[in-house]
Amino acid sequence: MKKIRSALNSLALIWCSLWLIAPAFASDALESVRVWPAPDKTRIVFDLAAAPEHSYFTIYDNQPYRLVIDFRNTRNQVNLDALDFESMMVNRIRSSSPPQASTTRIVLELSRQVTPVIFPLPPNERYGHRLVVDIPGQSVPEQRVTRSLEGMKERPVVVAIDAGHGGEDPGSIGPSGTYEKNITLPVARRLAELINADPGMKAVLVRTGDYGVQLNQRNRIARRERADMLISIHADAFTTPQPRGASVWVLSRRRANTELGRWLENREQHSELLGGAGEVLSNNGDDPYLARTLLDMSIDSSMSGGFEAANLLLSRLGTVTRLHRREPQAASFAVLNSPDIPSVLVELGFISNPQEEQEMRSTAHQQRLAQALYEGTREFFVRHPIDGTILANQRTRQHRVQSGDSLSVLAQRYGTTVRAIQQQNNLSSTVLRVGQVLEIPAS
Ligand SMILES: [Zn+2]
Repeated sequence: MKKIRSALNSLALIWCSLWLIAPAFASDALESVRVWPAPDKTRIVFDLAAAPEHSYFTIYDNQPYRLVIDFRNTRNQVNLDALDFESMMVNRIRSSSPPQASTTRIVLELSRQVTPVIFPLPPNERYGHRLVVDIPGQSVPEQRVTRSLEGMKERPVVVAIDAGHGGEDPGSIGPSGTYEKNITLPVARRLAELINADPGMKAVLVRTGDYGVQLNQRNRIARRERADMLISIHADAFTTPQPRGASVWVLSRRRANTELGRWLENREQHSELLGGAGEVLSNNGDDPYLARTLLDMSIDSSMSGGFEAANLLLSRLGTVTRLHRREPQAASFAVLNSPDIPSVLVELGFISNPQEEQEMRSTAHQQRLAQALYEGTREFFVRHPIDGTILANQRTRQHRVQSGDSLSVLAQRYGTTVRAIQQQNNLSSTVLRVGQVLEIPAS
């Protein structure tokens, strides 16, 4: 009995010591690491159990160049070797022997000597304590429109395609866990492919990978590439699973410059804080501002471009998916705030609707959506020609035959007749083959 008691006492003593020592040893934990290479920087986010106690220094006198970050009183729970990323700035992220046992030392091997920007972030609704490390410098290959204007009488129209969200900002999340950012990017890429296959058009992707781009930066990129139109691609979400269908939003630019200016500014901040336009959009469905803006829009001639483009996109989207709203909707989103570029924001469907979430994940549906957006965009530039562009003189349109197409379906879609399509293409029968390119006469 006595022996047992003494053993229990020792155990208690050991337990107490551990309990006293443990918090001092490692009160914090490194729980995960996320890496987002972008055209202008690589962002590395360290997720921590508690607010970080950190310090850092750089080693730039010999290669590899290194940024060393010490997390005091922190144990590392992350297998850094399993990190999968490709950055032109950060070659490797590894651990290293720390100055004290209680410290986790992380080493970033850099390709250039740059000044890192390092700051902690408090928890929000999505993430806990974080330490953000920004390594400035081009980190992913940047695509640019190469325009050889010399010797070219006419130029292609340039369409900037903005895949909503990205990086730390997943956008809305579907009931089976689909991230909006992972829908918007493949649809944007497919749309870019279709546009680039058209000799009259060129596409610029605002983001080319899984990284965040600030909202106001998105139309700055469009302007830098001298885009003739900006299409921002999103998926809608609501608090209940029922709402479904696509919609297209436009901005009342004149109003944005006047009395809506302040509201827009606040909304932009608000939206960035929330991490995307989708939430603002969903939360303001019944906003009286929207109704008023929509009313003003019909008489606002400066809006006719975006409004007409939105109408054409809607009519094409309506052939491949159901529509949530048949008319273009008006809103003030930072991404639509381009006074000189007709801009539209497309909600492909509701990611919060289980059926549409699954549809939007399917590559076949993504392709149909992209095809509809391509056709609507092309139609816009044919109907609203820009001087000096190839499409300005286009009397006919081209259609690549897909499975399920028939002459009567195409005639109906393009507002023409079976006979007119046959004559234009010298077709003696009504048999079409998939991949065949047809000239569609002007309606
Ligand atoms: Zn969105």
